[in-house]
Amino acid sequence: MSKPLIVQKYGGTSVGTLERIEHVADRIVKTRKSGIDILVVVSAMAGETNKLLEMARSLSQNPARREVDLLLSSGERISAALLALALQTRGIPALSMTGRQIGMQTDSTHTRARITNIDTQRARKLLEENHVLVVAGFQGINAEGDVTTLGRGGSDTSAVALAVALGARQCEIYTDVDGVYTADPRMVPQARRLDVVSYDEMLEMASLGAKVLQIRCVEFAHKYKMPLIVKSSFTEEDKGTLICEEDPKMEQPVVSGIMCDKNQAKITLKEVPDQPGIAANIFEPLASASISVDMIIQNVSEQGHTDLSFTLAREELDEAMVIMNKVAKNIHATQVIADAKIVKISIVGAGMRSHSGVAAKIFKTLSANDINILMISTSEIKVSCIVEQKHSRLAVNALHDAFDMASKPAKKSAKKKTAKKVRVV
Ligand code: ASP
Ligand code: MG
Repeated sequence: MSKPLIVQKYGGTSVGTLERIEHVADRIVKTRKSGIDILVVVSAMAGETNKLLEMARSLSQNPARREVDLLLSSGERISAALLALALQTRGIPALSMTGRQIGMQTDSTHTRARITNIDTQRARKLLEENHVLVVAGFQGINAEGDVTTLGRGGSDTSAVALAVALGARQCEIYTDVDGVYTADPRMVPQARRLDVVSYDEMLEMASLGAKVLQIRCVEFAHKYKMPLIVKSSFTEEDKGTLICEEDPKMEQPVVSGIMCDKNQAKITLKEVPDQPGIAANIFEPLASASISVDMIIQNVSEQGHTDLSFTLAREELDEAMVIMNKVAKNIHATQVIADAKIVKISIVGAGMRSHSGVAAKIFKTLSANDINILMISTSEIKVSCIVEQKHSRLAVNALHDAFDMASKPAKKSAKKKTAKKVRVV
């Protein structure tokens, strides 16, 4: 029987300088001493990918994606080779590997390719021979043998995919924060690190703008039930956040996290005729322009007319307004109003499935603070409210207090279970 395998992924800040790379190498030496096989996935050194992209853009207005992929993949190769050297200096038989060498096969969608298969034969052999593999993340090759990349933040996905393909017992994501928090600590000083978050919660959080993990990486981990652990490579403390399946035997916290998405804007069409087909007339042109719409609200119709509002990402507001002004003329709406000064505040918690009253408590808390709610949407484990941007800090802090998110859930047994899960999976 071969030894247990752990995949560790180090993000751009963790390998941002030669000193940081040496520090990561020291960490790996320590983990290795506990008799575990390790495969390391690295990102490019912090800022490197952006720098390379800028260089491409300074030579070409619309750089060919195929060339961009080859260019960007070099960032990860640099950190992989440097880390392998640092490990070899420490007596560890390390080998750096590109996407091709590790067998990462993808489709041909350059700059956002999807993994199609991982040929693990060579990796298995090298691990068996006791090597530590240091893999350049974010990249693969297509059927023609051309280099592809997996989309920004794609090294997270490389790491989970390799963990799954090689049957690792867990995938550790090292970054500059020590886990997933109840709220952004820059906004909420009382924010607390969560010990455990379910895949479903993490997916909601990632799609609401939590930047710790790429959404695809969480989807992948969820699909194959690969436990993910988010940790900091900047502290010696070994604590982090475990992202795993909900434990059906345990009661879930009603709310786990609160997010504030500032990348929001709202468009309102006034006095839209209330007839079949109108909504399609409005949203089809947006879909054709690849603009995704988030919340939609249509008021009760008065004398055959209704106001209709929807939200979208702020950077798409200008383009959407051009389209909406045309649409409004065609459908005889009287006015189109844009509002970029809004935010989306969302509360996420797996326990909402079995608890009622969360939405009511949110509304009560916001009204007690004189904050007007502009729009509301809910899913099974999430309630989102659109409010004016000027209220964001107050709203987030008031809700964090109202749901007592700064204190750990009271359940003592919950803690024991968590600790056990982190160790063996
Ligand atoms: N270097 C790539 C990026 O900056 C991939 C990654 O870091 O995960 O997006
Ligand atoms: Mg990243």
